[in-house]
Amino acid sequence: MGTITENINRYRASLPQGVKLCAVSKFHPISSIQEAYDTGQRIFGESRVQELLPKQQNLPADIEWHFIGHLQTNKVKYIAPFITLIHSGDSVKLLKEINSCAKKEGRVIDVLLQLHVAKEQTKSGFMPSELDDYMAGGEWRSLSNIQIRGVMGMATYTDDEELIESEFKTIRQEFEKIKRQYFPENEKFSYCSMGMSDDYPLAIACGSNIVRVGTGIFGERIY
Ligand SMILES: *Cc1c(COP(=O)(O)O)cnc(C)c1O
Repeated sequence: MGTITENINRYRASLPQGVKLCAVSKFHPISSIQEAYDTGQRIFGESRVQELLPKQQNLPADIEWHFIGHLQTNKVKYIAPFITLIHSGDSVKLLKEINSCAKKEGRVIDVLLQLHVAKEQTKSGFMPSELDDYMAGGEWRSLSNIQIRGVMGMATYTDDEELIESEFKTIRQEFEKIKRQYFPENEKFSYCSMGMSDDYPLAIACGSNIVRVGTGIFGERIY
């Protein structure tokens, strides 16, 4: 493990063109985010609203904050004024609430549809078949204050690389299917967010174009 600056520079040099780096700063202090920012990093991912708010208030305004964790509907209003991208659009109820808070703010908020493909029941998101049904239903078309930018997913936490690979492939296939059926002409539907510190090379090989890296940049989290 190098310094934050060395780590960020290493990722930036090694990620293929077209793959965005979301630096996952949850549980790390403002000073660590500032160090990453000073290298030029602008996209940061957080997973808890109460932690994100003070960070957003005390760090430069041109940071693009991405929300990556499960988001409770009653907390959407706090991040709606500034959030750049919500990766964790994991239920119909949440999508509706993001839409309604975005409307109050006079914004259109970018969201990803989170897929549940992993074996753990604790992970949230739409099963691929549920997402197919939701998209076919068409109700999402009336949510005019959200812009669906793509999908996000996580693989099972395991050493079984074949399982991880098959899950990433499932996420990518779902991305392509939704793109083809509902957004063929819309270049904004373009993000396939998958891969974390341990599995991002495999995720990229399977078609990820946003990786969410925390530990590999900032070191171990102390909970
Ligand atoms: C914490 C988290 C990450 C980053 O995990 P690392 O293993 O530290 O890279 C990525 N995605 C989500 C959704 C997370 O909650």
